[in-house]
Amino acid sequence: MALVDGFDPVGRLWIGRAQAADARSCVEAPPLDGALLIDLASRSADSTDEGNIVQHTPAAALRPGSVEDIAKMIGFCRKCGIKVAARGQHHTTFGQGLSSGLIIENRWLNTTHSIGPEGADVDAGVLWFDLIRQSFAQGLTPPVLTGYTQLSIAGTLSVGGVSLTNGKGAQVDRVQELQVVTGKGEIVWCSEHHERDLFEAVLAGLGQCGIITRARVDLVRAKSMARQYTIQYTEVAALFRDMRTLLHRGELDGMYAICVPSGANSAYLLLPTIYFNQSSPPDNNHLLRGLSVSPGAAAVQDLGYVDQVTLVDALYNNLAATMMFDQLIKPWFDVFLPDHAVEQYVSDVVPTLTPEDVGPTGFVLILAQKRSELTRPFFRVPDTGSDWTYLFDILTSSSGPGANPAFVSKMLARNRKLFEKARAAGGTRYPIGSIPFDHRDWVVQYGKVWDRFVELKNRFDPDDILTPGLGIFP
Ligand SMILES: Cc1cc2nc3c(=O)[nH]c(=O)nc-3n(C[C@H](O)[C@H](O)[C@H](O)COP(=O)(O)OP(=O)(O)OC[C@H]3O[C@@H](n4cnc5c(N)ncnc54)[C@H](O)[C@@H]3O)c2cc1C
Repeated sequence: MALVDGFDPVGRLWIGRAQAADARSCVEAPPLDGALLIDLASRSADSTDEGNIVQHTPAAALRPGSVEDIAKMIGFCRKCGIKVAARGQHHTTFGQGLSSGLIIENRWLNTTHSIGPEGADVDAGVLWFDLIRQSFAQGLTPPVLTGYTQLSIAGTLSVGGVSLTNGKGAQVDRVQELQVVTGKGEIVWCSEHHERDLFEAVLAGLGQCGIITRARVDLVRAKSMARQYTIQYTEVAALFRDMRTLLHRGELDGMYAICVPSGANSAYLLLPTIYFNQSSPPDNNHLLRGLSVSPGAAAVQDLGYVDQVTLVDALYNNLAATMMFDQLIKPWFDVFLPDHAVEQYVSDVVPTLTPEDVGPTGFVLILAQKRSELTRPFFRVPDTGSDWTYLFDILTSSSGPGANPAFVSKMLARNRKLFEKARAAGGTRYPIGSIPFDHRDWVVQYGKVWDRFVELKNRFDPDDILTPGLGIFP
């Protein structure tokens, strides 16, 4: 592990202690509570993400010992023209969080400051998984959880945080206050009532205007148990008819559909969930009344609340242990589709997917979200008549670890083609996945809020140093 003393703006190199004595052009790095590392092992560890498609080895990695470290280093990078990105659990799949300049490893900021009925006050690097366990010990839970929960608080707040809960917004909608280091190196607290522009700029703001360092997020009372139903469909029309019936009734806590494509014979599973306390178990016949399938045909599974909401984590850990899941190439495809187009899109696309399109671990995921609960301006979802929008994901993985350029280019071309079809139907990109995008695509993606995004970028990151990996501001 090598520590750094400065930056050589001529050679554009970080300088270690031995070289610093000789380097006339060295700019002195600020004194830090944590550490700034330039050794290859530390930098290589930050050179790729969950997708294993894009690689950029940073010139240095910051392990912040305090928020002030982040502010000082952003100020320093601004002076030297060095690009900076924050890294949570690096679970985006297309280099969104990479930088050839400085990477800020937020996992070192991981204190839970307080938990109570009024909410949780947590550092950026705390995992949702940990917050779930800590809050459940007090009978509380975050109201909106991603399927997989070993993601950092700030990582999902920077992209949106879409939940299996359909009608309570995304995670960005359940934030009370944030501490942010702007691209100018200033530490600012912001909320809907104070510094609102910055608050809105960083929630689902893809790290363009500031680095989230601490968040106060909602907590609600948790039930002790969860019941998950599994209902099988062979027809897309019946799946959506039943999904809409259940969504409009609003009696369940969440639901999603999955499919392992198999041409014209693709079968779909709908998985509705309800939370309950043991003293008042749900009435299956009542909840599943009037669907295409009789309530008795649904498989039923009861689990403790925490086991249910971390079910995907268990699956992920198993795949990581048995199939080196972390090392597979994952050209994920993620778009939001309008209600009026989703059924046709699924009917057109799913039967065309081959086994290679999903890979040994992959599947298609369909997740409904209530648009009126999605309140953050830079969380881009289709702007159409119905109050529902659907996240459609193809969670592709390669058949094995290791470089496979032919597979990557084939899947990226597929993603681009499917994205254009989605956009023509009124869809938007959920920017966690791997879709080749250029500047014009971003302008279209942001639509009527593009000019405001540009204005906020210029205000909070005037030297354009933050989060270059998405290529929004080339
Ligand atoms: C197995 C798996 C399951 C998933 N399930 C879901 C799901 O159910 N719902 C969902 O919405 N998403 C899901 N995702 C996607 C996930 O939410 C995003 O990839 C999210 O960004 C991951 O958080 P992270 O901590 O890994 O962030 P990272 O990938 O490290 O960062 C994501 C982006 O945010 C930026 N960023 C990170 N930290 C900060 C910060 N402190 N301030 C500003 N910008 C920052 C990064 O530079 C990068 O551009 C899943 C991903 C995986 C791999």
